[in-house]
Amino acid sequence: MAQDAEGHAAFSLATTASTLAKHRDDTAAHRRAGFSALSSNGDIWGRAGIGRSWLQSLVAASPVVLAPLASVSIFITLARFDGSLSEFAAAAAREGFWNLLALYGPKLTYKGLVAMVYWVGLQAVLYKYLPGETAVGQYTPAGYLLSYRINGLQAWIITHLLYAGLSFFGIIDPGFIPRNWSSLVAAMNLAGFVVSGLALVKAYVMPTHPEDRKFSGSSLYDFYMGIELNPRLGNGFDLKLFTNGRPGMMAWTLVDLSNMAYQYQKQGYIEPSLILMTILQTIYVLDFFVNESWYLRTIDIAHDHYGFYLAWGCFCFLPTTYTIQGQYMGLYPTSANSLYLGLVFAVGLAGYALFRSVNYQKDAVRMSGGKCLIWGKPAEYIVATYKTSDGKEHSSLLLCSGWWGFSRHANYVGDLFLSYSMCALVGSTNVVVWLYAFWMTVLLVHRCKRDEKRCSTKYGAAWGEYCKRVPWRFIPGIW
Ligand code: NDP
Repeated sequence: MAQDAEGHAAFSLATTASTLAKHRDDTAAHRRAGFSALSSNGDIWGRAGIGRSWLQSLVAASPVVLAPLASVSIFITLARFDGSLSEFAAAAAREGFWNLLALYGPKLTYKGLVAMVYWVGLQAVLYKYLPGETAVGQYTPAGYLLSYRINGLQAWIITHLLYAGLSFFGIIDPGFIPRNWSSLVAAMNLAGFVVSGLALVKAYVMPTHPEDRKFSGSSLYDFYMGIELNPRLGNGFDLKLFTNGRPGMMAWTLVDLSNMAYQYQKQGYIEPSLILMTILQTIYVLDFFVNESWYLRTIDIAHDHYGFYLAWGCFCFLPTTYTIQGQYMGLYPTSANSLYLGLVFAVGLAGYALFRSVNYQKDAVRMSGGKCLIWGKPAEYIVATYKTSDGKEHSSLLLCSGWWGFSRHANYVGDLFLSYSMCALVGSTNVVVWLYAFWMTVLLVHRCKRDEKRCSTKYGAAWGEYCKRVPWRFIPGIW
């Protein structure tokens, strides 16, 4: 797809046949391109390549062991220790962590495995066969511009209607998920490891875009952070978009709703806290699917490679830890007073409004080539150039007005307000119900730092100019 020096007028969703044909030609040419991707000042941009020591790799890849242990520890804490991490820790010290794991840890069963196979199979069929408009992502470091079929919203609706329908006709128990959580957690862990292993093998034996692979020199680190940027099965089945959206985000609301059903079955009514929390999380998940084409231009798709971090993360970490609040309330029904719930819910909605508004502004300026109004005034932006490894020069617009003139990541601030509200709605001081918000804080601060490094290498002086104009990362005067 052509991209003129003026910027991104050509970035409007490439749905016409002629644009897509041109895009395919470009992509074929890029297959012959070299390996590194150059910024305007000649540096490599994209994920860091070879150069880290074995110790750095070991530390960086430690979540391969620690994250699954954390996920099963959380499971045991919720199931056996009333959601008290301190009681879990005391028991682990007394009886030994591995003994606790053997006694109370998730147990893989045939039922859990079958449920997992059906779940992933259903999502794969919906992803592949549901119709949808075509959208394009960002230029990759090697110069590919990939197209994607956007059908996540339809898949979300069908999945949830199917669950409701099967429950209504008594074919499945609406509280199936919490009732079989042990075997599902085990199956999700297993699936995450299997898919991560297959991704590693695929990257070596049948890579989709060889020039966009990154090798760190450490197989462990490569397993963790991934080698391929956009692995695909055949032409259209994009493993990264599928994994992040379908077994990951799609499961989130289903787990919440099933916990609601479970709570109802147990006590005959649903606590307002659980209803409000589920509303906030449903808004967040639906936002993802309604704006699925926007997601193609975020860091997950444009920058992160496909390995354990994304694959296990979306097959297991997301469905098991992003849903802790729902799991907790399903097991231990509780509700704070209405005033507290109303205030926290309002803060959550405000956080979501900020999150959406910031993300919208960035997409609006990029999709319109800068010809849009931000807060009622013409958008102000810097034209930043960069090169892909085929030597072609491209340009991006860095928005400097609206929220993007307020701070460089106001969208993360909105997300954090929302995350803390989701946890606060539970109304508990148990640390376990706050883990999602703590995780998001660490994730987004870390993400902000690594994104800045990448943008600085990609755009050189133009990024420096943007940082001068907008010196604050999250909140002016604070950070
Ligand atoms: P952004 O959507 O902020 O994307 C960052 C990228 O945008 C940069 O790499 C750069 O990419 C481009 N960019 C940077 N500055 C500007 C600017 N001034 N104008 C225009 N483009 C700019 O971040 P993420 O992809 O991390 O997150 C997207 C959303 O998803 C966020 O709201 C975040 O909170 C949320 N999120 C949620 C997670 C969860 O687990 N719940 C996990 C991660 C994110 P380039 O120039 O190369 O296009």
